[in-house]
Amino acid sequence: MNEINDIITILTKLPGVGKKSAQRLSYFLLKNKHIALEISHIIEDVISNINFCSICGNFTTKDVCSICEDYSRDQSMLCVVEEPKDLLAIEETGCYKGLYHILMGSINPLDGVNPDKLKINELVERIKKGNFSEVLIATNPTIEGEATFLYLNNILSKFNIKRSRIATGIPMGGSLEYSDSLTLGKAISSKHYL
Ligand SMILES: [Zn+2]
Repeated sequence: MNEINDIITILTKLPGVGKKSAQRLSYFLLKNKHIALEISHIIEDVISNINFCSICGNFTTKDVCSICEDYSRDQSMLCVVEEPKDLLAIEETGCYKGLYHILMGSINPLDGVNPDKLKINELVERIKKGNFSEVLIATNPTIEGEATFLYLNNILSKFNIKRSRIATGIPMGGSLEYSDSLTLGKAISSKHYL
């Protein structure tokens, strides 16, 4: 049936889903129509209402996200991450109570991602305008994350602001997203100053 193939084909577009998994999921969805419809409604509803926070770049359904709006958080700390999923991973550790800045990627010249494609100018503007006393750089322990860190560190060294970086403990080639909260929490608590 072509219709079933349509579902299988669309599911293989998801990261980590190969043809076999897509087939399995498709037959599950066909058998469980109410779950399939619930998934499609929720995804449509959320995706059509979601935006990027105009301050930090996090996902939000409003102009400004709940973290940027939360004045009980430490307004003097700014943590720089690559993607919204990294923010989520750090939030789940419960070890960080400052604000965030999401770069929307990492420097990867081979893929055409040069520094000007990232939200680095926006970061510089926030630092110029804000009252931050410290920037914590939490890029991923990958080649691209490392290149991004070096680039940021150089730019930020021109400002009168404390710079720190999350500690290692996250293996090279790993990611913040897939680190367990304990390891990532430890990496944040034992950050080092640059
Ligand atoms: Zn925000």
